[in-house]
Amino acid sequence: MSGSLIVDNIGELVTNGTGEGPLGIRRNAAVLVEEGRVVWVGPSPYAPAADHHVDAGGAAVLPGFVDSHAHLVFAGDRAAEFAARMAGQPYTGGGIRTTVGATRAATDDELRATVRRLRGEALRQGTTTMEIKSGYGLTVADEARSLRIAAETSTETTFLGAHVVPAEYADRPDDYVGLVCGPMLAAAAPYAKWIDVFCEQGAFDVDHARAILACGQAVGLGVRLHANQLGPGPGVQLGVELGAASVDHCTYLSDADIDALASSRIDCMCHEGRHTTTVATLLPGAEFSTRSPYPDARRLLDAGVTVALATDCNPGSSYTSSMPFCVALAVREMRMTPAEAVWAATAGGARALRRDDIGVLTPGARADLVVLDAPSHLHLAYRPGVPLIRQVIRNGVPQ
Ligand SMILES: [Zn+2]
Repeated sequence: MSGSLIVDNIGELVTNGTGEGPLGIRRNAAVLVEEGRVVWVGPSPYAPAADHHVDAGGAAVLPGFVDSHAHLVFAGDRAAEFAARMAGQPYTGGGIRTTVGATRAATDDELRATVRRLRGEALRQGTTTMEIKSGYGLTVADEARSLRIAAETSTETTFLGAHVVPAEYADRPDDYVGLVCGPMLAAAAPYAKWIDVFCEQGAFDVDHARAILACGQAVGLGVRLHANQLGPGPGVQLGVELGAASVDHCTYLSDADIDALASSRIDCMCHEGRHTTTVATLLPGAEFSTRSPYPDARRLLDAGVTVALATDCNPGSSYTSSMPFCVALAVREMRMTPAEAVWAATAGGARALRRDDIGVLTPGARADLVVLDAPSHLHLAYRPGVPLIRQVIRNGVPQ
């Protein structure tokens, strides 16, 4: 779409910048977009003329959701495993190997179709940025092609060769770590921005995780971690030690883990002024789908830790692409306020990806806007399961 775009008659505009309350809310507002960027935010009656016009009709407008944690490159589904779990079987993480088998057997086009289907599904639910991980190939060729396919859809791509030790390396995990740090990283790095490790009992221990993440850092990849999901462990503190952008899950945290995260606070030029370098990304879809205890979001927030929300979209432990669902879970199950949850799903996700051009609607930001079929952001939690996304504008283009 060429030319400028004005979105006016916005009853409640969430800017995550200056304005009322933690969401920087403006009433009866308008947003002017040029060349994919927000160039002006102000009162609707003063909205400048533009080539294209969207009338929000008094509804709420939010920054597009930033889903900073998703596993979209896979084949097969694990509905039967979900049903068994709901019938009482515990979740162990071992089902990842089932998806690995299906993913290796799939063609590029099959994997590509799944990524596009899920990315489209998320976009219709308001997600304008979505991180995509590899991690179901676990061979040099399959990890590289997973990331090549992911990079067709997102610039936020993450190499997760250390998702689980594949069956063929079960009795020699050191050799697998050598493969991940050597030829697999070399093949994956051209398509990846981030490196991630599942640091958990039954996956990778802290020494292996540190070695793998250091190799990724050495070739310029940013660090993120799956940590403290299934039990207490050293993953969160390792993430802080390595300056990770985010530690994800954070379901089982000790006081020392919280202190470590809180101590990563820095002064910043951004709107907030001060925030933590390492974000705690909470993935309540995983706790929902594995019927597990939810992370203690209040403890993190009260300690001053920056919190993000993401879907963890994957076929085993959280097969949802819906950020509104995660917002509703965060409010209902994790005692976040609606404002905290909406911030975490937008600006928080951006922080977890070290991005300052998304998750906000202030001049200079990417023009990613979501028009709700509701007068307020509160409805995202107040009306769970309802399709409240009326329109999505991504990069200044109505979808
Ligand atoms: Zn995950």
